[in-house]
Amino acid sequence: MDFVMPQLAVGSRADAADGAALQAAGIDTLLSLAPLARPAEVALQLGLAVADRVALPAATIRAAAAFLAARIAAGHRVLMHCEQGISRSPALAACFLHEHLGLSLDEAFARVRAARPQAEPHPALVASIRAHYAGADGPAVDLAGNENPFGPSPAACAAIARTAARLHRYPAADSAELRDALARRLGLAASQLVIGNGACDLIDLALRAFVGAGGEVLIPDPAFPAYRSAAARVGARVVTVPLAGSEYSIDEYLARLSPDTRLVVVASPHNPTGTLMDPAAWARLRDALPAGAVLLLDEAYRDYAEGRALIDAAADVRRGAAVLALRSLSKVEGLAGLRVGYGFAPETLVRRLAALCPQYHVGSLAQAAALAALEDETHRRASIDANFRGLEMLTAGLTRLGVEFVPSAANFVLLRAPRDALARLAERGVAVKCMARYGLPGHIRVSVGLPAENARFLAALGELLREDQDCRDAVPA
Ligand SMILES: *Cc1c(COP(=O)(O)O)cnc(C)c1O
Repeated sequence: MDFVMPQLAVGSRADAADGAALQAAGIDTLLSLAPLARPAEVALQLGLAVADRVALPAATIRAAAAFLAARIAAGHRVLMHCEQGISRSPALAACFLHEHLGLSLDEAFARVRAARPQAEPHPALVASIRAHYAGADGPAVDLAGNENPFGPSPAACAAIARTAARLHRYPAADSAELRDALARRLGLAASQLVIGNGACDLIDLALRAFVGAGGEVLIPDPAFPAYRSAAARVGARVVTVPLAGSEYSIDEYLARLSPDTRLVVVASPHNPTGTLMDPAAWARLRDALPAGAVLLLDEAYRDYAEGRALIDAAADVRRGAAVLALRSLSKVEGLAGLRVGYGFAPETLVRRLAALCPQYHVGSLAQAAALAALEDETHRRASIDANFRGLEMLTAGLTRLGVEFVPSAANFVLLRAPRDALARLAERGVAVKCMARYGLPGHIRVSVGLPAENARFLAALGELLREDQDCRDAVPA
């Protein structure tokens, strides 16, 4: 058996049948394209039946890459079993190296060949793979939603599967177990925690509980549109607080505080700039709050800012400050589709939020998945580390292209874009976020994706810039 990367080996039928050797190599997962009995030492096996022996359908490449990504992100080692001569499994391993390490296809095939010289993929097989990545049926790349490109926490998925059998029962009405677990992590009391259907649900509750019709809310500009839409739903009066360039200006906030202020919104890291509010500036704002006002800190991207100077809102809450911090499981934990997030604040504020929630507000799948995801340190670590590498790759690429961008502490980058960038990137199969709704025409926001996705975005952006350059060169002086 030959390792093409520390977590992925390619081996023969005999290798795949040798449970003791697999165990000695730390391998607990098999991926095979041919029928194969699973040795007892192997915890999980995926069999992908492929009728065509010298070409790989796009669906097989996608399924294999997604399976490998999830298992490897969760800390497992995988053996891909390969029949001699046909070499579809080594070719699939090359696909994975291409997608996840950002190697070109040639580099990926060379890496596999170096580890396993006898694997010589049929030319038709190589052609089918090149067509998949180059052609119209290549996977579209979605870098618009700031989602975790690695997928959901596998532990959360397993918890959902376990909980599904009990879906005829109502969920814990007060999410007690989840609130206890969060309280322990944060050094707070469970009575200081509130669970919502995503952070957006809690933003809505905060506007309803603390602001209401005619009340005044301070919202940074530009910002995540959910604050404004929540304010509009309750008929609140919005006072916008401009950023200074891409950074927060605390003086702009202080100048707008008044006895009418009910809620002040801050996001750190901020969306769409990816910048942080300085903890000292935050403390000034907190200490200047008028009586009865609440300071909301949206920390949906906090995990990605690891290693930076971050606001300690839990300490503020412990000291009784009128602070509500919001966090989401939609980002690092990869559960955006499930809708679960939480907030923490002094108990008096939490009670006012909870009073607006109907009974059985948060479903049992969301509660169970959140509990499991918070414990899934492997997925969290892998996701954050991959994001650091992806950010580096994107920012190095943008610098090379001479594109102006904002250095980010999150999993996305705001950049100045060429004309019609959204449509022209879409033609090349790359979706990014339009910034018109954020009041930033001429900009786009791109999420950090898998290495191959980042590479595809940079290649497409490079094409746009060269096209525009050619147009300018073609205009007679
Ligand atoms: C993505 C995001 C959230 C998360 O919202 P959910 O409702 O938990 O999915 C919250 N705030 C900001 C600024 C975001 O970008």
